[in-house]
Amino acid sequence: MTTINALDHEALSTMYSNLMEEYEAFKAKNLSLNMARGKPSPEQLDLSMDLLNKLDSLDVKDSIDIRNYGGLDGLTEMKELFAQLLQINTSEVIVGGNSSLSLMHDTISRALLKGVVDSDMPWVKAPKVKFLCPSPGYDRHFAICEMYDIEMITIDMLEDGPDMNQVEELVRNDDTIRGIWCVPKYSNPEGTTYSDEVVDRLANMETKAKDFRIFWDDAYTVHHLTDNPPVLKNILKACKDAGNPNRVFIFASTSKVTFPGSGVSVIAASEENIGFIKKQLAVQTIGADKINQLRHVRFLKDAENVKLHMKKHAEIVKPKFDLVLNKLESEFGNDNIASWGKPEGGYFISLNTLDGCATEVVRLASEAGVTLTGAGATYPYGKDPRDRNIRIAPTFPSLTELEAAMEVLCLCVKLASVKKLLG
Ligand code: PMP
Repeated sequence: MTTINALDHEALSTMYSNLMEEYEAFKAKNLSLNMARGKPSPEQLDLSMDLLNKLDSLDVKDSIDIRNYGGLDGLTEMKELFAQLLQINTSEVIVGGNSSLSLMHDTISRALLKGVVDSDMPWVKAPKVKFLCPSPGYDRHFAICEMYDIEMITIDMLEDGPDMNQVEELVRNDDTIRGIWCVPKYSNPEGTTYSDEVVDRLANMETKAKDFRIFWDDAYTVHHLTDNPPVLKNILKACKDAGNPNRVFIFASTSKVTFPGSGVSVIAASEENIGFIKKQLAVQTIGADKINQLRHVRFLKDAENVKLHMKKHAEIVKPKFDLVLNKLESEFGNDNIASWGKPEGGYFISLNTLDGCATEVVRLASEAGVTLTGAGATYPYGKDPRDRNIRIAPTFPSLTELEAAMEVLCLCVKLASVKKLLG
């Protein structure tokens, strides 16, 4: 089979005309398909419907009336569940509201205005605040930095996590670098799980800013697609062992376990950090939604049961990942015009086109009725330096819709590649 890269100008021109014909035929179908955001499908949401029937009694371990105010850091049983899932102590947990992203946002804004444990002054009083952003990464992390004028420094993602040589060099020499964003398990979008070495180097590295923080967004900690999932080393323990117990803030939520937007979130950290945050939080809120916490604990029960529940998610999600991966393999397995990750969990597949083609692919797909995450969204400031990364979110569409969307996407990748090769 001749690969696209090996075709001469004439063959490429013919190919372009044929692909254009196919493309116009797709456009005529007036498709309306969306692979833009990582949302669970309705079938996945159905798995948690029983959550809504779990409030027959309101008795809790703390012997409080959960209908009333109180419980700043959450119900004991919810703290115990998160502690089990994250393998930390209940004293290291604050249960939040329905969104871990909002916990991350609030943590940053409080650090800017008031500093963190170990700060000499609020971050915002320094002439500059910078964050390291392993990329491709999660666009909403980058949006928080952008809104607060935190300068973002792109760090390359390698196969086992961020390029630690780059990270160590930067944080050792620049005291304006206050933090790093990490999605350590099944990273968004590449599906990478950080190696033990990366976790240890993050915990141990010398930082010029003594109040440097790792924002450890463990959003996909239980979202496995295989029976033998990779094990992520415990960052809080690694930080304690390294003598830097306050270095990390861990975030997670049940958003993609139960109902996104109606789940329960958590921030976990050293007891000193937790004490510091609780004092500030007490000004912001009297406590999060305990009724939602109770029904979550009753529904999810314990870590073992969460595992079984997530297996049911995987049964729905895995065929969709397989469809995307098989299609990419059959379309591009013999060409050098695209490469992609093969995640073992999480919500995304990261596709790299030839340099300079991603924006064109997303535009072409959009005109043919297939919405993808905007090109560049996975990089700070929405600017992919090589304009090649596309985030595929396969969970929401049905298998039939996904098949149609992948047909269009692959065609658009070919069209944009051939156009580029034609020059
Ligand atoms: N972190 C990551 C890495 C995510 O992908 C998402 C959801 N797409 C979130 C956080 C949002 O979490 P939550 O619903 O708890 O705010």
